[in-house]
Amino acid sequence: MLPDPFFAGPGLDRADALRARPGRIAALAARHDARQLEWANGAPALDQNGRLQWRAVNGEAPLFLGLDGEVPHFSDLPPGDVPIDSRAHFGLLGILDPADAPLFAAALSLANWHRRHAFCSVCGEPTAPNRGGWSRACAGCAAEHYPRVDPVVIMLAEHDGRLLLGRQPQYPPGRYSALAGFVEPGETIEAAVARELEEEAGIAVRHVTYIASQPWPFPSTLMIGAHAEAEGDSLTIDHDELDDARWFSRAEVEAALTAEPDAAFLAPPPFAIARTLIERWLSTRLK
Ligand SMILES: [Zn+2]
Repeated sequence: MLPDPFFAGPGLDRADALRARPGRIAALAARHDARQLEWANGAPALDQNGRLQWRAVNGEAPLFLGLDGEVPHFSDLPPGDVPIDSRAHFGLLGILDPADAPLFAAALSLANWHRRHAFCSVCGEPTAPNRGGWSRACAGCAAEHYPRVDPVVIMLAEHDGRLLLGRQPQYPPGRYSALAGFVEPGETIEAAVARELEEEAGIAVRHVTYIASQPWPFPSTLMIGAHAEAEGDSLTIDHDELDDARWFSRAEVEAALTAEPDAAFLAPPPFAIARTLIERWLSTRLK
């Protein structure tokens, strides 16, 4: 079994058909077993075991997260005076149970989208949650706005059995990871992978293939993991973006993943899709 990225998984039944029926949503919220997500410091609250915390629905719960079997799950919006600081939430990823990670991602991204979209981007009038919280409707011009997801490509370039990894200035000492960048309007995933590798490392690539994806709720990214074959190994590093980029052998990558003391670099943490991509690359190359 190849490892799946953290945050991957089906989560709840999103029950999309119910969202357009406010009467059904209200009836679900009134059920005795309906659950409402707890929040703490601007993120879904976790218990000591890293599981999401729930309570009975009371008062307003404008976000219908979905169904677990018959049981409806809701959330209200976190208080508006809590700053949306994604880095403050990274610490939660060390304890968050993977089983609850998809719902954590959905709730956090959705709630922060609501907090950032109180006004219509068309006419500037206030907007209000609609469709069980999966859109916002403008009272001024009737525009309907949907939660945004921002695609980012993150990729392993390979040349002659070695992997290209780089380090950004804010990484901890020794950390190397997959290069990444936002997909721009008008680009395919393949074009974005090729452009980012050319811009950041100065390499041309071919045979871009999709590997796996990961919702990343800081605030609303979809990480699209890819593999690419580099046509050469000569690097021209963009030092505005990267401290460094290097080719690592399979043995060096393996030593980093097993955290050997003399490893050539510090591997990405388990919740990063970069680590999943590297693990998958190693496992397929071992065969
Ligand atoms: Zn409007």
